[in-house]
Amino acid sequence: MPGILVFVEQRGGAVKRAGLEALSQGRRMAGAGMGPVTAIVVGTNVGAAAAQAAGAGAERVLTVDHPDLANYAPAAYAGAVAEAVTKAGPSALLFPASSLGKDLGPRVAARLGWPIATDVVELAAEGGKLRGKRPVYSGKAIASFEISAPAVVTLRPNVFRAEPTSGASGTVEALAWAPSATDLKSRVVEVLAPEEKELDVAEAQIIVSGGRGLKEPQNFELVRRLASALGGAVGASRAVVDAGWIEHKHQVGQTGKVVSPALYVACGVSGAIQHLAGMSTSRVIVAINKDAEAPIFKVATYGVVGDLFQILPEFAKAVREAKKE
Ligand SMILES: Cc1cc2nc3c(=O)[nH]c(=O)nc-3n(C[C@H](O)[C@H](O)[C@H](O)COP(=O)(O)OP(=O)(O)OC[C@H]3O[C@@H](n4cnc5c(N)ncnc54)[C@H](O)[C@@H]3O)c2cc1C
Repeated sequence: MPGILVFVEQRGGAVKRAGLEALSQGRRMAGAGMGPVTAIVVGTNVGAAAAQAAGAGAERVLTVDHPDLANYAPAAYAGAVAEAVTKAGPSALLFPASSLGKDLGPRVAARLGWPIATDVVELAAEGGKLRGKRPVYSGKAIASFEISAPAVVTLRPNVFRAEPTSGASGTVEALAWAPSATDLKSRVVEVLAPEEKELDVAEAQIIVSGGRGLKEPQNFELVRRLASALGGAVGASRAVVDAGWIEHKHQVGQTGKVVSPALYVACGVSGAIQHLAGMSTSRVIVAINKDAEAPIFKVATYGVVGDLFQILPEFAKAVREAKKE
């Protein structure tokens, strides 16, 4: 069988969690008869990330290590991945549906002339076809799809489990490749990272989100305290972002970030369809809202009908105490 090629996203030499999830899904499909799993790692000084991918279950790791790839350069990255496709000849190419993967996956699919399924939440291979599910209409419905291999698939982060491997050790092989002049028509010249070390909602396993029910911007402190007690990130509805209470990078939803953490706590968030579009695939959803009819309760695993001003401090205190035990 031709096998599966997984784009393993790395930054600063460390593999991103979503890359490990894609690799684990590749291994599950390989186990179901799809053939070996090859990883492709692109960037500069990718040795450590390649070793991590080899230890995380890739039987073979192809690397493209080039100074022009230090920052994400869309066409050049697409060229490097296409080169790996030529080398590995896979029947499926998996990307995490991270910000980078959402941009790169379709570019590579277009370059190869392959079909693509994006933001996929379930995936299996059967008889030369890839079958799966993906949310549509902002998460109002889940569509089942079937595409013929070879195909590109982007996987929604935090949905596919990254399973630990013991004693795995694949081979690492450097690909000789250099970008053409057209590959570098556009490139990122500098990345300005925010100074604070706040957890990014797109990557957090736990998110505590606040909405207009907080009444005033300073009350976001209640959300921050609970997030800090749980070791999670702070999310927000668009209403409070538009009101200037918190920066847009915290916004969850259709026009914010799509997240799928292990735990999502929504505090004073009504659960408008545009908000649900960004968080309804979270594994466990806890909703705190004083209105028992609030739509957020339709997707909640656990619902607390009550006043967040009473509940949040108690909740944070209980978490801190439980952690001490
Ligand atoms: C094109 C488009 C794109 C959009 N994109 C997004 C998006 O990406 N993300 C997003 O979030 N929204 C988005 N919206 C906006 C969305 O429609 C809602 O307006 C928004 O999500 C509402 O935010 P909220 O839940 O904080 O506020 P509200 O809808 O005002 O809800 C506040 C909630 O707090 C509860 N509450 C009040 N007081 C308390 C209390 N003391 N204790 C407990 N609960 C309390 C209320 O019962 C209510 O349910 C978009 C809208 C459009 C048109």
